[in-house]
Amino acid sequence: QTPTPYFYTTAATLSPLIKARKKYSHKGSFGHALLIGGSYGKMGSIVLSAKACLRSGAGLLTVQAPRCGYDILQTSLPEAMVLPDWHWMVNTTVPDIEPYSAIGIGPGLGQDPQTLLMLQGLLSSLSSPIVLDADALNLLSKHPDLLHFIPKNSILTPHPKEFQRLLNEQWKDDFEKIALLRAFAQKHQLIVCLKGAHTAVALPNGSVHFNSTGNPGMATGGSGDVLTGIITGLLAQGMPPADAAIFGVFQHGNAGDRAAQKCTQPALIASDIINEMGW
Ligand code: AMP
Ligand code: MG
Repeated sequence: QTPTPYFYTTAATLSPLIKARKKYSHKGSFGHALLIGGSYGKMGSIVLSAKACLRSGAGLLTVQAPRCGYDILQTSLPEAMVLPDWHWMVNTTVPDIEPYSAIGIGPGLGQDPQTLLMLQGLLSSLSSPIVLDADALNLLSKHPDLLHFIPKNSILTPHPKEFQRLLNEQWKDDFEKIALLRAFAQKHQLIVCLKGAHTAVALPNGSVHFNSTGNPGMATGGSGDVLTGIITGLLAQGMPPADAAIFGVFQHGNAGDRAAQKCTQPALIASDIINEMGW
């Protein structure tokens, strides 16, 4: 009998990934993350990702954002460094990726043609896995040829609508949705976190890991941006991509559950998830 490819993620499965910090560690021990996103009117998304990234434990964080976001980022998040794009409204510049241990792109990014060129340039310069979310995924859906440039084991975090655009195919029920998810992750050798209640993390080896944490209070603007920041931060600290995706999804839901306990599900906003991170 072939073993089932389906798994259920609980605290017990993940406890080996939680490691105490070594006494003589320093910020250089915990990686340097780069987050790229934000555009005029959508700076909040990248601010939320950035805060969550720092709370996940990343040693250093740089955020690349359009110039309109410079003051917003520096005042709302003094812990992060900012790489302002020359463009006022959107990201257009391919960053020098050398200093960074992990990169996440997408929250609030927008879909300007110049941003598409930047995404193309970035993907072709990469050799290690990246985190792709939101408008980075929407740009990929419109230019599927770009899928081939994404490094193996990169992490995609679509909500169902974004996944449907990526697939360009509609499923008839949840069983077909999970079958399509598995096939997509295997075909492209990518890690795909299909978000929602019991987020399903599909790995290139064909396994699917369903999450046990989270609640409908998290169905609120910015919630997914928080997840992007967490996963990018874990990757920056050297966690293997599959672990970073599965653990990040679990931690995000766990923080959301604690937040809902404090303020109730309807009152929960994305910032509350960030404030409840940690153990
Ligand atoms: P986004 O649509 O990109 O903001 O992402 C929404 C986030 O909220 C994802 O991490 C989802 O898993 C989470 N979420 C949305 N609805 C629910 C739900 N009903 N139960 C648990 N988590 C949810
Ligand atoms: Mg989103």
